Amino acid sequence: MPHWMLKCTECKTVWELNVAYNLREYRRLYHYCPRCGRNTFHDILEYVD
Ligand SMILES: [Zn+2]
Repeated sequence: MPHWMLKCTECKTVWELNVAYNLREYRRLYHYCPRCGRNTFHDILEYVD
């Protein structure tokens, strides 16, 4: 399943976001972090398909 690898800038956790849409134009994404339990900024590491 294609996914993006995101890294939370708060807790440094790397996790998979299971969406196929293109995030390449973004350098950072404001998204809910499962570990922080709130919305944080994430570095977009890579796309895995
Ligand atoms: Zn986090």
